[in-house]
Amino acid sequence: MSQWISSNLGYPRIGANREWKKALEAFWAGKVSEQDFLTELKGIRLRHLRLQQEKGIDLIPVGDFSLYDHVLDTSTMFGIVPDRYDYESGPVSLSTYYAMARGNDQAAASEMTKWFNTNYHYIVPELAGANPVLTVNRPLVAYLEAKQELGIEGKPVIIGLYTFLKLSKGYSPSELPSLVERFLPVYRELLSELQQAGVKWVQVDEPVLVTDIPAEDWKLVEAIYEDLHQAAPELKILLQTYFEAAEEYEKVTKLPVQGIGLDLVHGGEANLAQIRKYGFPQDKVLAAGLIDGRNIWRSDLLGRIHVIKELTAFVSPDRLIIQPSSSLLHTPVSLAKEDALLPVLRNSLAFADEKLDEIKLLVELAGEDINVIHQQLAENTKALSELNTSVFRSNFTVREALENVNDSSFKRKSDFSARHAAQQQKFQLPLLPTTTIGSFPQTAEVRKARRQWRNGQLTDQQYETFVDEQTKEWIDIQEELGLDVLVHGEFERTDMVEFFGEKLGGFAFTQGGWVQSYGSRCVKPPIIFGDVVYQEPMTLRETVYAQSLTSKPVKGMLTGPVTILNWSFVRTDIPRSEVAYQIGLALRKEVEALESAGIEMIQVDEPALREGLPLKSADHESYLTDSVKAFKLSTSSVKDTTQIHTHMCYCEFHDVIESIEAMDADVISLETSRSHGELIENFKTQTYDKGIGLGVYDIHSPRVPSVNEMKEVVVSALEVLDPELFWINPDCGLKTRGKEETVAALRNMVAAAGEARNSIKVPSL
Ligand code: GLN
Ligand code: ZN
Repeated sequence: MSQWISSNLGYPRIGANREWKKALEAFWAGKVSEQDFLTELKGIRLRHLRLQQEKGIDLIPVGDFSLYDHVLDTSTMFGIVPDRYDYESGPVSLSTYYAMARGNDQAAASEMTKWFNTNYHYIVPELAGANPVLTVNRPLVAYLEAKQELGIEGKPVIIGLYTFLKLSKGYSPSELPSLVERFLPVYRELLSELQQAGVKWVQVDEPVLVTDIPAEDWKLVEAIYEDLHQAAPELKILLQTYFEAAEEYEKVTKLPVQGIGLDLVHGGEANLAQIRKYGFPQDKVLAAGLIDGRNIWRSDLLGRIHVIKELTAFVSPDRLIIQPSSSLLHTPVSLAKEDALLPVLRNSLAFADEKLDEIKLLVELAGEDINVIHQQLAENTKALSELNTSVFRSNFTVREALENVNDSSFKRKSDFSARHAAQQQKFQLPLLPTTTIGSFPQTAEVRKARRQWRNGQLTDQQYETFVDEQTKEWIDIQEELGLDVLVHGEFERTDMVEFFGEKLGGFAFTQGGWVQSYGSRCVKPPIIFGDVVYQEPMTLRETVYAQSLTSKPVKGMLTGPVTILNWSFVRTDIPRSEVAYQIGLALRKEVEALESAGIEMIQVDEPALREGLPLKSADHESYLTDSVKAFKLSTSSVKDTTQIHTHMCYCEFHDVIESIEAMDADVISLETSRSHGELIENFKTQTYDKGIGLGVYDIHSPRVPSVNEMKEVVVSALEVLDPELFWINPDCGLKTRGKEETVAALRNMVAAAGEARNSIKVPSL
């Protein structure tokens, strides 16, 4: 019998068949009543709890389930609803809850942003004028439900006050102490009600404590936990950190709580080093995050057992909890349906359900004699070593090519000014050239044809003909609109990463490996499990065909190495940077293939570059250096006259603008609807001296912006940017738009460009 306790931090809501997503969407579409919807969701919630119970998890999280997002659950539980929505007081209605999440006729949705460095997006609480009250004790309701329905003594999960405030907006940093004061009574109430109900452990998530937080905030954090401890002295608080090592280990472990949760996978070495250096307080429980909650790989259980053994030197066995490194929200649900994967790969995977089995196995085996080879351990070791020694893992040609990379592989032949002159000479573009970001409307017709082709109802030939017809139609439209640089429209792609993953070696695709991205939207990231191998041209046929239809330049369109990396599940046996370089090298071959086929403008999109930025600022530089290098590896071999474009969107650019510049693209297009003011402000002090297009209209709405509106954007941008380097384009790709509105908006954009050109007097022209 083991002494250790097993625990989980959160379970995926979406369900093995995405039944959660389907239920939400059916409800939004008015197909089911609120009553039926809530009953259905309760069924899903209880099923997930029962599953964890059957797997033998001792501390099962409750309250992590959500009707949309757990941060929105927290703000609405406190009655924090911005004035623009329909709300007076008391519990927030389901319709107001979803209005905040998704917007409605009266009010726009609340902003959504990334949950730390994951691809999960939460609804940002707006605290301006907030007057928090505990309108309903959600974790308590969840606790009672689990207890009554299933006899589960659950562990309520809440977002800690400090993290909640730090993730919110609508206040200035100096107001933080007064906000803490305002929220503390509600947190006190919440916890003391849990105590009264007999809750034993509550998991209080404070992931912000892994980031570099201002020194003065520490007093606040200490005051918060002092106060909460007094409010509910019998309740055991498990202060949970994850996604990185605790920033101030000594301070965190001294907080007046009964347990500390540490991530021993992401930032695991740093956390372990702190335990070795400072020990672990004798009066607290250590919740050891030993199984990766964010990736899809089976754990090296033997290695993990060694860590447990080491931990027992610092913590007695009855005070050690074994759990995933973070909530399992970030992993797919179950491997049950993945029979189509290569056996050697499938055997090395663990999704949420299998990770719970690993937790249980660790608890069972860690106390046993490690020298007695246990059958399940042997099987685990064998599966991992079979993958590691498989032919997919290392490709000699790729490894050799990477070894031959040298400084010049990352450098264009000439600097930007020489290239710019040569490109101007070649392309003879007008001032303020107009272009688009790449994709054109993926209409129902386009999606249907792709589906039919995938089902075998259309032959390759028929599908190609269909794609070509679409391309031709849109080349004609772009010509008629008078755009200067054209695109083929990306009709052959569903997803900008999947498309390339399917054509490169080293990638695998699951049947049901879905993960929640935001609300009901799920993504199915590819798995990069082997060395990335270039097999054959991936975009040549469509691009060359499009170029054959017009005398204007057509941009080749590729997804960049960093974006492919950040939007995939990545192998962990070699550094991420190495995988990025491998993708960079493969894309370099594609760039070369395009160039030799006469495609002399090539766009390499990097919309996900910023989001991979590590949580700790000390790690930023190496990430950015590697990212820039991977991009440059893919783009640097071309002639001076070949124009490299890149594109980024929906992120904070200002803190990475130097790296953006270092990518040395000839032209960058940036989305600005979210960050316009800020970007322009930024360019006042820090000029950008390569080609740049700031999006002149938001592509998220069917609204057709007026000529004047777009001209205004151009005029204000030209106050800080050089007109000779400025481009005019929409914010992002147009694949989610309809045809009519797209044509109308682009017509206005071209007109706005014309007017802007006329109003600029450039002496050299
Ligand atoms: N070229 C891509 C498109 O237009 C870029 C998409 C993106 O930035 N996410 O769809
Ligand atoms: Zn974009």
